[in-house]
Amino acid sequence: MNQHMRPEPVPFYDLASQRRRLGTSIDESIARVLGHCQFINGPEVTALEKALSEFSGAAHVVSCASGTDALLMVLMAMEVGPGDAVLCPSFTFCATGEAVALTGASPVFVDVDAQTFNMDAASLKRGIATARQRGLKPRAVIPVDLFGQSADHDAIAEVAQAEGLFVLDDAAQGFGASYKGRKLGTFGLATATSFFPTKPLGCFGDGGAIFTNDGKLAETLRSIRVHGQGSDKYDNVRLGLTGRLDTMQAAVLIEKLKIFEDEIAARNRVAERYARGLGNLVTVPRLASGCSSIWAQYTIRLPEGTDRDGFVAALKAQGIPSMVYYAKSMHQQTAYREFPVAEGGLPVSEQLSDDVVSLPIHAYLDEATQDRVIAAVRGALSA
Ligand SMILES: *Cc1c(COP(=O)(O)O)cnc(C)c1O
Repeated sequence: MNQHMRPEPVPFYDLASQRRRLGTSIDESIARVLGHCQFINGPEVTALEKALSEFSGAAHVVSCASGTDALLMVLMAMEVGPGDAVLCPSFTFCATGEAVALTGASPVFVDVDAQTFNMDAASLKRGIATARQRGLKPRAVIPVDLFGQSADHDAIAEVAQAEGLFVLDDAAQGFGASYKGRKLGTFGLATATSFFPTKPLGCFGDGGAIFTNDGKLAETLRSIRVHGQGSDKYDNVRLGLTGRLDTMQAAVLIEKLKIFEDEIAARNRVAERYARGLGNLVTVPRLASGCSSIWAQYTIRLPEGTDRDGFVAALKAQGIPSMVYYAKSMHQQTAYREFPVAEGGLPVSEQLSDDVVSLPIHAYLDEATQDRVIAAVRGALSA
């Protein structure tokens, strides 16, 4: 092999292939918005909410400005605030706990399961006890459907019910996945998702949505979305946000939602092939019984003693990008160090933060490229 020839780099995300597949449909959808000029709350926003409701089975969908706002708005609507505790996993993207802290409540970090990376119900119970010991009032739990796989919603609902907590599902990575045959969006009181461009269902900017079967909550969320407006335009009845999804993004999402199921199937095919190619070498992700995944990330665990930085560099030399989601669990990060963690500590989260690596996965990753990824991983580990 010619040493001066570097292998063509593979992109970690590939938004361009999807754009090619969709042809001019998104351009036309955006052009319609440019035509009618209803940039805020245009007809596409309502149409998208209806389509998302049909897709998920949730009675009400309230679109909003981001996944973080989706979480925050539900906590605001439920009047979560100082003195309250909200249980969330530590091994997650920071927005999960950030939304809690923004309300003045305290996130209480809980450990995850080593196989699924999702919230461990036993640690959740310990976390609730820890919160009470600290004089906090446990109000809610935020399970995360991490890397695209649904959390164990029955186990979490059981603990939440026994302890009088409401459940807010953070499906920013998992929207589109199902649990025991039912799509995410109808578990607990409400579900939040994100349409950030690299999420499995992404727009061309920031966006998010909240799903609920509770009509009264949906009404409150619609008020919070517009500065807490009441029925009288000049009398705001509560604190709110500039929390709307803009019409352009809704127009983009309407077109992308049409191919979402097909893309989920394609992502699952890649995951199956990775598992066959890598399963005897690294710890590949495992789907728990009753859970499906939309593979927002394909996250492996490296064998004990592997130098992760060296592994990442070896992949890079072969043109294969990788990411470490998440090199620090939330309770290990500067802004969140002072918040309580569940009794017994969070050993699994800390271990995962040390040994996980995410490989490229998306709906347009062809078999030849998948084989390059598999070969690069095998080569890096046998070196
Ligand atoms: C991306 C993400 C969010 C936040 O979504 P934004 O739209 O970026 O605000 C929240 N939770 C999780 C688990 C995420 O991955």
